[in-house]
Amino acid sequence: MNDPKNIRNIAIIAHVDHGKTTLVDGLLKQSNTFRDNQAEMGQELIMDSGDQERERGITITAKVTAVQHDDYRINIIDTPGHADFSGEVERTLNMADGCILIVDAQEGPMPQTKFVLGKALAAELRPIVIINKIDKPGSRVQEVEDELADLFLELAVHEDQLHYPVYYAIGRAGKAWDHMPADPDEEADLSVVFDAIINKIPAPTVELDKPFQMLVTALSWDTYKGKYAVGRITRGQIKAGDQVVLCKKDGTQSKAKVELVFMSRGVAKFEVPQGIAGDIVQLTGISEAQIGETIADAANPEALPVLEVEAP
Ligand code: GDP
Repeated sequence: MNDPKNIRNIAIIAHVDHGKTTLVDGLLKQSNTFRDNQAEMGQELIMDSGDQERERGITITAKVTAVQHDDYRINIIDTPGHADFSGEVERTLNMADGCILIVDAQEGPMPQTKFVLGKALAAELRPIVIINKIDKPGSRVQEVEDELADLFLELAVHEDQLHYPVYYAIGRAGKAWDHMPADPDEEADLSVVFDAIINKIPAPTVELDKPFQMLVTALSWDTYKGKYAVGRITRGQIKAGDQVVLCKKDGTQSKAKVELVFMSRGVAKFEVPQGIAGDIVQLTGISEAQIGETIADAANPEALPVLEVEAP
């Protein structure tokens, strides 16, 4: 499984209540990830697990839910539902190669959706569209498709982004189709969504054999290990005990040692022996790390461009 070809990193974009949490729950259930987590963590809601950290006043922005599907490790990256800190949206999108836009079949795309989708397309993410809640009596699928087409025409930065695949879903029932079903009671599951993620969204293009480099995109914290530096590995590999250098925003560098490497499984994190380029990992032991800084190979420390964090 240590091949970037088997990794997919996708950002998920939806207006509040359009069905993001329910759909991600459905993907976890279908891949049997959810039940394991429920047993382990007693958690019910997937995407809302960061609330505790938020309450502590600690910055946690990138909520990553991981789904194992066949041989693929799929990281679903939640995008912030508000537009006030655009730096946060950009940092989050920076970890993804594609995005899933979920739109309510009755309400259609909303202004916030437009903002985040615009950023995603500007970041050259490959889009997939899911028109959700097609079971609603007020559903107006054809009109919503037209509204989406206008939106993409306005926002796309590449011709190929206009050829986005569209799926039709009843997230609440765990069903999706690649065509509008004649009867919403028709048997279905979420397989078309998994197929779309695997076949329509590119694997990360990365260099495995280069010195390690990772941009710190988010921080999280718990009483078990203290601070976790969250990010997508840009190049190289990392394992517990590796010596690294933290390239700070002020241009200085400090030595550190990676204590442990974690990845997401469902909403939980678990320890892994190593992470490879393309993976989204959480590293402990680098207590000074701040968002926007680079953790790099000790022998070849090279900083990535600092991603500015806008002040609240
Ligand atoms: P989020 O805010 O985008 O995470 O939305 P949620 O997943 O929490 O869903 C918002 C509401 O829409 C909940 O009450 C869901 O039960 C409901 N919902 C989700 N999917 C569907 C669907 O396919 N059809 C209908 N009718 N309701 C849905």
